[in-house]
Amino acid sequence: MTKITIAIDGFSSTGKSTVAKQIAKHFGYVYVDSGAMYRAVTYFAMQEGFIDASHFNVDGLVEQLESVNISFKFNEALGFAEVYLNATNIENEIRTLEVSNFVSKVAAISEVRLKLVEQQQALGNQGGVVMDGRDIGTVVFPDAELKLFMTASAETRAERRFSELIERGDAVTYEAVLKNVQERDYIDSNREDSPLIKAKDAIQIDNSHMSLQEQFDKILTLVNTTLEK
Ligand code: C5P
Repeated sequence: MTKITIAIDGFSSTGKSTVAKQIAKHFGYVYVDSGAMYRAVTYFAMQEGFIDASHFNVDGLVEQLESVNISFKFNEALGFAEVYLNATNIENEIRTLEVSNFVSKVAAISEVRLKLVEQQQALGNQGGVVMDGRDIGTVVFPDAELKLFMTASAETRAERRFSELIERGDAVTYEAVLKNVQERDYIDSNREDSPLIKAKDAIQIDNSHMSLQEQFDKILTLVNTTLEK
């Protein structure tokens, strides 16, 4: 059976990665979390002192980009690939609210995007891939056979992200998470390079009132229909 490329874009915390992992598992496809790659560069920038609450040394980060080596390794127990920065597993470190607060600024830098898009295209060039992000259907894989665009209200998304962070044991408030979700929506949608927009041929799914099972069933049907074409 031919293996297709599935691009899932949308706003922050719309559950893209949850359904992308489920679909990848169902079809034996590779799942790539492109947001994890932008988070990894952000974590690197924080570690190296290029970004904090009061300054952002864009030129310094861009100069050091060559030494940023991002890779994924499948973790059998978790059932998905974890992200590594220069051979160190940083899967947990990149999920903090602090990283979320800086990531959209880092993701707006064209040099960063150029490097990561090239790697994303290489990861998916054989097909049989489900990739989620903000520009997958518009820039990374404009010819993807199936493109989805996920939305949900900002409040619904903030509640989901807040619960995830609390479950991890992070000390965050709902208000801070909502603010982060809204700020990232704004920066991601308004940046000059590869802004978050729905590809013309993407199917929009608002999952504000959908259960995970309903969402999975709907997307499974869409994938099967695409495979039959
Ligand atoms: O998907 P996630 O919320 O982890 O993505 C973190 C951030 O990375 C987004 O808010 C966005 O700024 C950036 N991103 C991007 N392009 C992608 C994936 C993520 O700009 N393809």
